[in-house]
Amino acid sequence: MSEPSNAEELAALTTTLKRHLEHRQRKGLCYVAKQSLGAQKNSNAFQQPSAMSTATVDIPGDNSVAMEAATLAELRAGIGDCQRCKLCSGRTHIVFGVGNPHAKLMFVGEGPGHEEDIKGEPFVGRAGQLLTDIITKGMGLKREDVYICNVVKCRPPQNRNPEPDEVAACEPFLIKQIDIVRPQIIVGLGKFAVQTLLNSKAPISKLRGTWASYHGIKLMPTFHPAYLLRNPADKKLVWDDIKLVIKEMRGEGA
Ligand code: URA
Repeated sequence: MSEPSNAEELAALTTTLKRHLEHRQRKGLCYVAKQSLGAQKNSNAFQQPSAMSTATVDIPGDNSVAMEAATLAELRAGIGDCQRCKLCSGRTHIVFGVGNPHAKLMFVGEGPGHEEDIKGEPFVGRAGQLLTDIITKGMGLKREDVYICNVVKCRPPQNRNPEPDEVAACEPFLIKQIDIVRPQIIVGLGKFAVQTLLNSKAPISKLRGTWASYHGIKLMPTFHPAYLLRNPADKKLVWDDIKLVIKEMRGEGA
């Protein structure tokens, strides 16, 4: 039998590496970001292994620590200097979530925008101000009373929709956040968050305003505040949805 050529050897190696990375991704393990294959990223949280060792050494970013977290702080620590998907390369901050860790009410948005990326806090831009008004002026609550987070924790470039691999990498952390906070009610903000939480392709215009269930937790789908900035006439629909949430929180739900 003849020796494999360099090209054949390279092809075989590529296939093996691809399978290995796909296996890691299926197991919820680390996505190997481009920069971790080249220069090492300077991080206080984790030491990156060297480029040549990525196939043999476990890459920091394994989900097991995060998945065993009992508190939000432990979960955040387990996420670390996340490199699990390609959004890591463009972010300034991981926007984990904010608010009362025992909140009865949780808001879930899509992903951080520019302001959120800079500040490291969800919903602090224009859409965030509108959400804050809904919480404070509409519901008579404080932002600190509720818990606010997003489906993906890093800003997608140009605020594009998060892509399926990015959601797949980040969703375990959202699930864990919900599991730790155990809110009585979740308000899903916009098509993207609602479709992700409900694993549905139905349009938000059909889903909004009707109670759904997220693993036994009442979920109210409504329009995203950024949509309301563009379509202020629909604010009254969101107010209808929020009134249902208020009723439910008061134990006056149907
Ligand atoms: N839009 C979102 O979905 N989340 C934010 O944090 C900000 C804007």
